[in-house]
Amino acid sequence: MQNTSCAADFLLHEPSKLRTISNLIDGKFVETSENLVSVNPATGEEWLNLPRSKAAEMDKAVEAADRAFPAWSATSVQHRSRLLNKVADIVEANLEEFARLESKDQGKPIYLAKTIDIPRCVHNFRFFATAILHHTNPSVIQKEPVEAVNYVKSDPIGVAGLISPWNLPLYLLSFKLAPALACGNTVVCKPSEITSATAWVLMHAFVEAGFPAGVVNMVIGTGPEAGEPLVTDPRVPVISFTGSTVIGKKIASLAAPLNKKVSLEMGGKNACIVYPSVDLDEVIPTITRSCFINQGEICLCSSRLYVHREIFDEFCSKLVEKAKEMTVGDPEENKTLGALVSDVHFKKVASYIDLAKEENCEILCGGVPSIEGKCSNGYFVSPTVVTNVKATSRLLNEEIFGPVVCVVPFDTRDEAIAKANAVPYGLSASIWSKNVDEIHATASALRVGTVWCNCWLVRELNMPFGGTKDSGMGREGAADSIHFFTEQKTICVKIN
Ligand code: NAD
Repeated sequence: MQNTSCAADFLLHEPSKLRTISNLIDGKFVETSENLVSVNPATGEEWLNLPRSKAAEMDKAVEAADRAFPAWSATSVQHRSRLLNKVADIVEANLEEFARLESKDQGKPIYLAKTIDIPRCVHNFRFFATAILHHTNPSVIQKEPVEAVNYVKSDPIGVAGLISPWNLPLYLLSFKLAPALACGNTVVCKPSEITSATAWVLMHAFVEAGFPAGVVNMVIGTGPEAGEPLVTDPRVPVISFTGSTVIGKKIASLAAPLNKKVSLEMGGKNACIVYPSVDLDEVIPTITRSCFINQGEICLCSSRLYVHREIFDEFCSKLVEKAKEMTVGDPEENKTLGALVSDVHFKKVASYIDLAKEENCEILCGGVPSIEGKCSNGYFVSPTVVTNVKATSRLLNEEIFGPVVCVVPFDTRDEAIAKANAVPYGLSASIWSKNVDEIHATASALRVGTVWCNCWLVRELNMPFGGTKDSGMGREGAADSIHFFTEQKTICVKIN
């Protein structure tokens, strides 16, 4: 493919043709002898052949990244910043095509990819391209016991292994690529095998921007076949993973004996606490969005809603009213919700709706809709609101990762906090109240990495992002990502 725009056109043009994408290893796009097939979740039709890479392909990619490391790590931050900004420009120039592809591959509506996923990918590159220019380290001049100047040097570490999930494919992959490269590491990335299309186009942007061969490599394949060889390769000292808690823990156990630096961003089961002081008409639109946007497939989506008993009935009826206004169907037609990512995931989400029925919960709205036309075989679930759920139910304790939420009443602040903290996850939470004391006291008591108060998904990339408990280990963000992707060395020089 000549450039990024040609690569995108190749995948978008003649949609009925099965296209084949490849790995990027040492500056060359290489196909594999075996392929996986990717399905368009909105139609159930096969649309893409992708590499079924194994240890041999991973070995070549790591070797190329390892070879490219000395020269790349010696470049100036200004040089790396310029190249990353070029990637941002290229993605921005092809935003429409990237958005259409992300939608086709993942199932999300095009409008969402156009307004959230791809702009955020552009922002990630620009943000770290500039953050690295402004990053400074501490220095201390001491007088005793000897006069000396101490300073910190942040060294790139080596080959970074970057493993990303399918829910926000380019958004999350670029949140790893940008800081890893800005800091002077070379990378081997393994995007989700369920959504690799935009990652393949992005690789063309790196080549087009002028990144030297071997600095950025991508190997596509399944977790066990391609991901594990990356995690266990001794030439890869740093692993950044975003995905499920089960796989994150597995990666931690594989990396620990090799003493690797590991960052884990894992699952969530996020509480939304609504106090009676709120103006429901004001907050319901954002709360509804926090439950169902991207089909509920955002690790930060609200899934357990704890609502003060005084306003419980009114809250439920207004939430249901808003949820029913959301349209579901063809992602190309810009419905509010598109398709869930795969048949497997659809069955998982639908099984929780069945569980709600088995447990005699009250399903206020939602379920599996019947969609007519070209999306009749797609994987769709309507915004689903469930009440009357037992505290011990799997519905309230397991990550569903779909548009299914439970609403539970509470009477006191302590009760709401205890309920919110009563799951193994600790990614994020939201609090809705007009009482400042209540907001601070509740936010302080919640055991999560991010608390949004009277807002949701407002991301300032300078702030640390990550999870507590089973939701993760480590933080990402300007200072945190730069810290993670470098090795700090203290240098002490005697003055006299
Ligand atoms: P997943 O854990 O199944 O897969 C994530 C990635 O890991 C994929 O690229 C996969 O191929 C790879 N992988 C799987 N097994 C592996 C192995 N043994 N060794 C190495 N790599 C392996 O997750 P998913 O289903 O793609 O994504 C959904 C999950 O991601 C949800 O749990 C969601 O909450 C979580 N998530 C978390 C965040 C966050 O920031 N905390 C963000 C997005 C998604």
